[in-house]
Amino acid sequence: MINTELSNISEIIQHQREFFQTGKTKDINFRIEQLQKLKQAIIEHEQQIIEALEADLHKPVVETYLTEIAVIKEIDYAIKHIKTWAKPKKAPVSLDFFSYSARIYPEPVGVVLIISPWNYPFQLAISPLVGAIAAGNCAIIKPSEIASHTSGIVAKIITKYFQPGYIAVVEGGVETSQKLLAEKFDHIFFTGGTAVGKIVMEAAAKHLTPVTLELGGKSPCIVDTDINLEHTARRITWGKFINAGQTCIAPDYLLVDKNIKKDLIDGLEKTLKEFYGDNPANSPDYARIISQKHFDKLVKFVEDGKVIVGGETKSSERYIAPTIIDNVSLEDSVMQEEIFGPILPIIEYSDIAEAIALINSKPKPLALYLFSQNKDLQKRVLQETSSGGVCINDTIMHVGVPSLPFGGVGDSGIGNYHGKASFDAFSHEKSVLQNSFWLDLKWRYAPYKSKLPLI
Ligand code: NAD
Repeated sequence: MINTELSNISEIIQHQREFFQTGKTKDINFRIEQLQKLKQAIIEHEQQIIEALEADLHKPVVETYLTEIAVIKEIDYAIKHIKTWAKPKKAPVSLDFFSYSARIYPEPVGVVLIISPWNYPFQLAISPLVGAIAAGNCAIIKPSEIASHTSGIVAKIITKYFQPGYIAVVEGGVETSQKLLAEKFDHIFFTGGTAVGKIVMEAAAKHLTPVTLELGGKSPCIVDTDINLEHTARRITWGKFINAGQTCIAPDYLLVDKNIKKDLIDGLEKTLKEFYGDNPANSPDYARIISQKHFDKLVKFVEDGKVIVGGETKSSERYIAPTIIDNVSLEDSVMQEEIFGPILPIIEYSDIAEAIALINSKPKPLALYLFSQNKDLQKRVLQETSSGGVCINDTIMHVGVPSLPFGGVGDSGIGNYHGKASFDAFSHEKSVLQNSFWLDLKWRYAPYKSKLPLI
């Protein structure tokens, strides 16, 4: 279960604390070496990673490269920029501080905990680790027990390449997670559902441990009439049905201008055929639902509204066809809960104000998508809605831009990461002010009498 002979969680943390105290992780060259090692480990185990994801999610190989092994790009980016990120930054001072210099020193926080989910089980365990290593910390990863094969390969890779007293993997489910959460860490980075995010934050509060919470929610996708229909259909189909809809930033539901609804549905149907053929069950490019429990929950969503595309299910394979449903009511469970599967409800609007009002009546989403070339409409949607991120005229792609911090707002999360934001998430910004001895103006010292006009 655990990647180390240190079977006791407290013992692992103690070893990591001792190692952190040696100061070794503060050395930038050490950090770069560890990142290079991590990259090498992934490259060497590529085939096993692909097999684990095939076993857990029937994940197509191309999707594994694109969305899991692609974490290597995150490593390369960190290696390229780490020296700049880690440098103390000069801060400006006002004229009355003219004898001082001010600097901000990023310093590692210490020993961090990373808890990850099952949907992109490799990438979401490793990507935060990149930030933790780059910032100079020790780390424990708790992968998701639900993607058990991938959890195993994460443990295998980390154990082979890293001392547990520096980076460890603790495998297990809720109980293990809670044991870890009972311990004191210097930062907890959690990716998962909003409900569990609250449990994590409550546990962290007991130790006053700062958290990054990468959570989920219902990400809306608005489709206006001013679009290239073919491109729109393709980009929505890809973003919704990649990994069989089990993506935190998948378009959860469509909000479509009623004048383009029929054309869009036709376009989506055509694209689905283009991507997965007449029967997606036979397509090598279409994933499966992670577990029977998740399958059973999703099947119930299909019963909400009227199926206009797809709807076929096969329990023995945990297969749900890419499905589009119409005539849903806002009270239906499919519009109340995060779907997290290949079911796409369509809601039409006559005026954009209705779509905006609907989005604003729900918790703030992780992503918001808008398909429109109309600049005024783009501006209005950006101004009148709040979400973790926005992608205009595409889906999902914003997650792959390391210069854009990725994270939620409100119920969809706290804090962000990727690129420099990952380094910052695991760093403390230490403010340092330095005075000199060449001058010592006495205006601030007692006796204060007669100094009031100087202040
Ligand atoms: P989850 O919250 O059920 O589980 C996540 C992790 O928490 C797992 O490692 C699990 O073992 C642990 N866990 C579960 N219950 C726990 C409890 N009661 N106490 C302590 N630990 C517990 O999430 P999931 O089902 O693995 O993933 C799906 C959710 O994650 C969706 O809501 C999705 O939107 C979200 N997600 C968010 C992002 C993001 O980047 N924001 C990425 C992927 C998934």
